[in-house]
Amino acid sequence: MKNACQSCKAGVDAWNERCGGCGFTIVLEPDEKIRARYLRGPSLGALMWTQGWTFGSRLYVWFLISLIPVAGFVALFACLLFGRRWSWKYGGWTDWEEFRSRMRLLDAIALLWILGLFVGWLLLRKGS
Ligand SMILES: [Zn+2]
Repeated sequence: MKNACQSCKAGVDAWNERCGGCGFTIVLEPDEKIRARYLRGPSLGALMWTQGWTFGSRLYVWFLISLIPVAGFVALFACLLFGRRWSWKYGGWTDWEEFRSRMRLLDAIALLWILGLFVGWLLLRKGS
């Protein structure tokens, strides 16, 4: 989904506030502003479980890349920084709500994963 530049009418990606064609600063509606900020944010889910996250985000090419040992690190950092934007652009989501709730779910699983690791670590410590 793109916004239109108010000056030259070119399509501008939803997370940009400046037109790449003419340099015009685009006036965003409040909810568009929230979206732009969200899309520019890092994706913690990609950091925690890159493979599951890329799959859930419908970034299937990155999913395949993340399966390759060393390239997986590239996928991790690329998706940590740009994952949300790419997922929004290429994921084929019906609307913002669908995209947003999927991102929420993936981030929640990432948190559970960290929590699980932490609990496992505590149990291991207790056992020894
Ligand atoms: Zn423009």
